[in-house]
Amino acid sequence: MRLFSKLPYLARILLIATVVALSVIISGILMMRFSTSNVPVQAKNSPTATTTVSAQPSLDTAALPTAIPTNTTPIEITRTTQVKKTTTSNQLAYGHFPYAQAERNQMMLIGSYASGADQRFEYLNTEAVQAFMKMTYAAREVGIWIIPVSGFRTIEQQQKLFQDQIKRRGSEKEAAKISAPAGYSEHHTGFALDLTDGKSPKKDITLAFENTDAYRWLTKHAQEFGFELSFTRNNKQGVSFEPWHWRYVGSANAAAIFANAKNQQ
Ligand SMILES: [Zn+2]
Repeated sequence: MRLFSKLPYLARILLIATVVALSVIISGILMMRFSTSNVPVQAKNSPTATTTVSAQPSLDTAALPTAIPTNTTPIEITRTTQVKKTTTSNQLAYGHFPYAQAERNQMMLIGSYASGADQRFEYLNTEAVQAFMKMTYAAREVGIWIIPVSGFRTIEQQQKLFQDQIKRRGSEKEAAKISAPAGYSEHHTGFALDLTDGKSPKKDITLAFENTDAYRWLTKHAQEFGFELSFTRNNKQGVSFEPWHWRYVGSANAAAIFANAKNQQ
């Protein structure tokens, strides 16, 4: 500082000005480096963020936050060449109409069924979800608990179920009375679902469901919400009576999908 005070006044000013100018230049360089190094990081982040958003465009994330992680992983959409052939042929298989598998992103989580290792998540076509919720809430108002047991199914899932029925019943023909062959299930559309009575869960997917409050209520009121029983007693398709299996026909799209089956009734 002594040296500094000995300097002439003009030199002091010049020295201060040089120090200030240098610090401005250095900080400028540092800022430029900082901002350029950030650019690739932002660029890396933004596509991931947009993919996450666009992957779930139709889901009500606020209402069903848990639908996001469970939605994307468990159900794989697979189309086999065999199924394509059968769905375009429009021929019945043991009385069952062919149905194309709907897209996974058309589905919404409506509930889970069973617990522990058996727990599974059930999905319904977004077009039918609101009507289904309204129906279950209307039933709850009068003390009746309608529980979804099985909704949307992939062709692969149906293949497994049908093979299990063949093992149990001995032949494809016998299996087809209780379960549709893969590519022929109404469940592929996401507009059909199996229901049970929350007070008698052991009656799920059995004829005993016919003797529950839920079934009695559904036969009176399901129609008001756009739902109908697919396989009525002695139906013309020759499929066994399934009191638990209901389909949505309340939108133009859903009604068109089931038009062939409906005309048979
Ligand atoms: Zn069913």
